[in-house]
Amino acid sequence: MLKTAGLTTGSGSRRLDNLIGVQDPPMLLERPGADAPYDDDGGTIVCIHGDGPPRWLVGAGARVLARPAATSVTGEVFAQLRTAAGEAFDCVDLHDGVVALPFSLTEAYENFVLERWVPSRGGRRLSERTLDLYYRLKPLMPRSLQLAIRRRWTAFKGTPEFPRWPHDDSVERLVRFYGTCVLRALQRESTGFRWFWPNGMHAAAILTHDIEGDSGMRNALRIAELEEGYGLRSSFNVVGDWYPIDWGVLRELAARGHEIGSHALYHDRSLFSDRLSFERQLPLLHEAVARLEAVGFRSPATHRVPEWIAELPVDYDTTVPLSDPYEAQPGGACSVWPFFIGDVLELPYTLPQDHTLFTLMGHRDATAWIAQLLRVERSFGLIQCVSHPDAGYLGDRRKEAIYRAFLHALVSREKVWHALPRDVARWWRARADGQGLPGLCLVTGTLVRPPDGVLAELCPPPDPADA
Ligand SMILES: [Zn+2]
Repeated sequence: MLKTAGLTTGSGSRRLDNLIGVQDPPMLLERPGADAPYDDDGGTIVCIHGDGPPRWLVGAGARVLARPAATSVTGEVFAQLRTAAGEAFDCVDLHDGVVALPFSLTEAYENFVLERWVPSRGGRRLSERTLDLYYRLKPLMPRSLQLAIRRRWTAFKGTPEFPRWPHDDSVERLVRFYGTCVLRALQRESTGFRWFWPNGMHAAAILTHDIEGDSGMRNALRIAELEEGYGLRSSFNVVGDWYPIDWGVLRELAARGHEIGSHALYHDRSLFSDRLSFERQLPLLHEAVARLEAVGFRSPATHRVPEWIAELPVDYDTTVPLSDPYEAQPGGACSVWPFFIGDVLELPYTLPQDHTLFTLMGHRDATAWIAQLLRVERSFGLIQCVSHPDAGYLGDRRKEAIYRAFLHALVSREKVWHALPRDVARWWRARADGQGLPGLCLVTGTLVRPPDGVLAELCPPPDPADA
């Protein structure tokens, strides 16, 4: 039975208040600009939203895309957001436990994570027709020509101003702005919230691989063995109906503690190319996922329609990047934290893909990967590395050596939780319900009002060793 289109389920879990999970949180009310009586009790954040198309609002150390509305109340203006045209909107603290914001926090959050910002940016992207043509010609082109085209495209695009690459902190800033509103509404200097990772770890790390063809299938065990040498396990995503599947290899990987995921039925853009094709493929995808005993998914070449991810027959998806301007479908959720799309949990990938760094950009060592791993750790996010065991990727000895150097750096981080993607997904769901799991304790972090500035600090739980 297929789920219906749209986001009727689980949408509450996509809200910012659920992402952060403050203890005894203030009420978060959404209200159209026209009627704003402000007779609310203390402990309330009122989000007043306008109508019309969303606009970029910048100020208070944050940047959001939302439909602004004037708050038109008197109180302490603790932040001001401006449109590109210079129109200003006030964030007001009424000092009786009520905070009025000139935009919807939920809308701003969804515009990031569901990539609804994409039409507002223009920028250098391929048209649908060009993409179609490229994919129709691709099987006829030698690989060297494909790569030459991709390299030219990468150089032509340059590095965009938004989302920042490889690290974008837009959602982190929005969360910290929300934290300040929480503290003002509660009239407190600090308060506890559900810490992101179990046992007070500062970040989580997952290693994921997409097997693109025969050579990847043949090399998967070698990559697995390399990871096992560091005490790590990873997931291998398999295309259901594209190359011969070596079930012996998959059984061996699973027996050694690795995870098998789905990389769709066909390695092309057919799944998400149009609604009819999506609905036609879903029953077959159900079967392929069941055969693999998979609970996770990544779309080929990260093609996606974010809203449709809710209908995939899996627990979690790993298609959406934190920021990736270099894929055929550029974009990004701008979030280092997982988020729900309907009932499916999205685990955004947060490190540049191996193909982007080593094949398209010509990096010759692990420096860029390690630098980004440290940034995501500082943001208390999910470190997710996407690589491929195939020839041309980690199948090349030089690139395998780079991966080894990256793993070496990764295991040296003491406060990083190493887990399989399915375990991170289970953890995040338990945390969303306010619960821990056996051996994985839910602990309390602290939101602290900053002495100056408008973004609250996210402080990890104290280290028991320091107590
Ligand atoms: Zn792939």
